[in-house]
Amino acid sequence: MSDYDERIMTPEFSGSDSDIEFSLRPKILDDYIGQQKVKENLDIYIKAAVGRHEPLDHVLLYGPPGLGKTTLAGIIANEMGVNIRVTSGPALAKQGDLAALLTNLNEGDVLFVDEIHRLDRSVEEVLYPAMEDNALDIIIGKGPSARSIRLDLPKFTLVGATTRAGQLSAPLRDRFGIIQRLELYTYDELAQIINRSAGILDIEIDKSGAEELAKRSRGTPRIANRILKRARDYAQVCADGIITKQTAALALERMEIDELGLDAIDRRVLKTMIKNYNGGPVGLDTIAAAVGEEAVTIEDVYEPYLMQIGFLARTPRGRMVTPAGYRHLGMDMPGQQSLL
Ligand code: ADP
Repeated sequence: MSDYDERIMTPEFSGSDSDIEFSLRPKILDDYIGQQKVKENLDIYIKAAVGRHEPLDHVLLYGPPGLGKTTLAGIIANEMGVNIRVTSGPALAKQGDLAALLTNLNEGDVLFVDEIHRLDRSVEEVLYPAMEDNALDIIIGKGPSARSIRLDLPKFTLVGATTRAGQLSAPLRDRFGIIQRLELYTYDELAQIINRSAGILDIEIDKSGAEELAKRSRGTPRIANRILKRARDYAQVCADGIITKQTAALALERMEIDELGLDAIDRRVLKTMIKNYNGGPVGLDTIAAAVGEEAVTIEDVYEPYLMQIGFLARTPRGRMVTPAGYRHLGMDMPGQQSLL
């Protein structure tokens, strides 16, 4: 197990989330906090489709993990009044796996494919006629006598989720009528999510406590919900059960999560870049090798937040630590005296 697997701050789903994730998922668009533009667009498209008694066009949702893509897929199905089937790119190893799912859909259903960029090319090819013509092409027999027959499928809506739309093949991307990007959440939105979750889980938290947790959630609802649970444990055992600014801060400091939500690995990324490469520019693969993480993990998970808070910049020659990043770590920029 790498440090990343054990990290409390990983925005990806982990086993410990399963007990609460379901109960915390908003079920209707009105309860989905933030992502205003995406919500407004989907609201219009859903109402229009419902009005025409047609399934919604295929939807591609992209953005970093933990931002609410699966949740939105469930909301779409709910608002359309249909069922949802959930699968993921890596789970569909063979063409037959996808064919079995498609033929079992009911008219109008939503098929949610998480990590759709990881679909095998041969499986992806089954999707093209399914998305375009609601048809499934099956090859019967082998060699010269093989022939293809076309089966009709029910009309359905494919909702695909990916961390990066750029990783999708062009033919697949072009078949989505609706493409929406999810952004990291603001502190204010995260505080609302934390208050909502606290209400559902019966956790006592005051305004300053919610704000403190929001600031440390890396813009990600999944992390917000997870650290809320950890802060509850701390408040219960070490304080009077109420999450205040102080208990939230103490609970997170115990987990080495600083006031901006950076954990030990974020700091290691920045420090390695500063100590070994003079703050950059340095290539992604070099950083990954130096800190012992996968390049894609750094790119999808650590970088978006470090860039959002202005600690890391991407340049054509590689990544660089910004002056704000140096300041946060209390380190001197080359050629500058410490102001501390
Ligand atoms: P993704 O599929 O992008 O990895 P999920 O949809 O699984 O993310 O969301 C992770 C958790 O975050 C869910 O359990 C849900 O409770 C919470 N969440 C995500 N987005 C929102 C939102 N906009 N409002 C409230 N809670 C949210």
